[in-house]
Amino acid sequence: MRRRDINSHLTDLRCLACGALQPADMTASTCPSPEHGDERGILDVGYDYDRARLDWPAPHAAGAGVWRYQALLPIPRPAKPLLAVGDTPLISAPRLARRLGLKSLWLKDDTRNPTRSFKDRATAVGVAIAIARGQHTVTCASAGNAAISLAGFAAHAGLGCEVFVPSYASAERLAWLAKFGARVHVSTGNYDQAFDECEAAAAANGWYNRNCAWNPFLVEGKKTVSFEIGAQLDYAMPDAVVCAVGDGCTLGAIGKGFRELRLMGVTNTLPQLVGVQAANVAPIVARQRGEPWHDDGASTAAASVAVRRPRNAVRVLAEVRESRGTMMSVDEATIVAAQRAYATEAGVVVEAATATTLAALEALTADGQLKGARVVCVLTGGRAD
Ligand SMILES: *Cc1c(COP(=O)(O)O)cnc(C)c1O
Ligand SMILES: [Zn+2]
Repeated sequence: MRRRDINSHLTDLRCLACGALQPADMTASTCPSPEHGDERGILDVGYDYDRARLDWPAPHAAGAGVWRYQALLPIPRPAKPLLAVGDTPLISAPRLARRLGLKSLWLKDDTRNPTRSFKDRATAVGVAIAIARGQHTVTCASAGNAAISLAGFAAHAGLGCEVFVPSYASAERLAWLAKFGARVHVSTGNYDQAFDECEAAAAANGWYNRNCAWNPFLVEGKKTVSFEIGAQLDYAMPDAVVCAVGDGCTLGAIGKGFRELRLMGVTNTLPQLVGVQAANVAPIVARQRGEPWHDDGASTAAASVAVRRPRNAVRVLAEVRESRGTMMSVDEATIVAAQRAYATEAGVVVEAATATTLAALEALTADGQLKGARVVCVLTGGRAD
């Protein structure tokens, strides 16, 4: 990669498992230490925050979506534009807020991104890096949204796209992949098996690997949602931010974004992170409680977060702890009811994985928590399941 294709504020990559530092090499994946088992050592991208602060945009600076925050992205805004991502609305949901006894409830509507999900934030950064590296084919494993996102960006940029999806990927999701012309590899197994198949194929064929769980640069795109939420609230930070959790990259990134705002002195408070999993597939919730998780094979309507071997558990649990937040699980009936309530009481159509956020708020407020709080739910996906 040319020097001008790398953010000069990048410092190093730090292993979240062993703390080892390594240079910010744009081809890095996980920590090379042989001591980390199957979960690997996840790398976290570091920056010179004093210098990044000098380049930080004013709260009301003009558009550019996620690239407005290029001071804290691994790669600067590409000269040839990609699909436009970010700058999604933060809408208030007064009826839900009133019923739940919250002061305010805002919905960060990331279903408005170009391929209709939050995943586009990470894809923008990944595809920009792939292009800067001169790669012609991109790949990822996905329950659907990341694959569809990558397929759309690849179509726009003229890249080949090979995606690996679980056996249960819905007809709706397969149809989106077909529309964008991606080559689809349907696994005989679940998301975790598709992930392994994708990693092997990426290594064998030299494809650019967009798997956010192991590619340290992808999480960087995801954290831009926190910068936007902060700016949209004039940096009067909410008390809590609620998001669905699968691998843990998304909420881990959201926590990192809020921490970076505090590190730079842009804000001085951290919202509590509330991470939500479907009770049928809740390995990270079990881990936070120090309990083993038993996979009884039950499935969930929240297909986008049905991750049985989460690869960013260390990252997300550290962020949740730092924010004094929590992980929780919600059962299938409450997910379905919350999906309906989002539509009938807030006018937003979300997928089941995203509906876990409202199911979690219903449980927390019924339990007397978050009374009078200002809360943001991140609407990660809105495609019919
Ligand atoms: C991917 C995804 C998530 C969770 O992201 P992880 O990084 O796997 O934790 C949540 N909601 C939707 C709709 C998603 O597609
Ligand atoms: Zn390590």
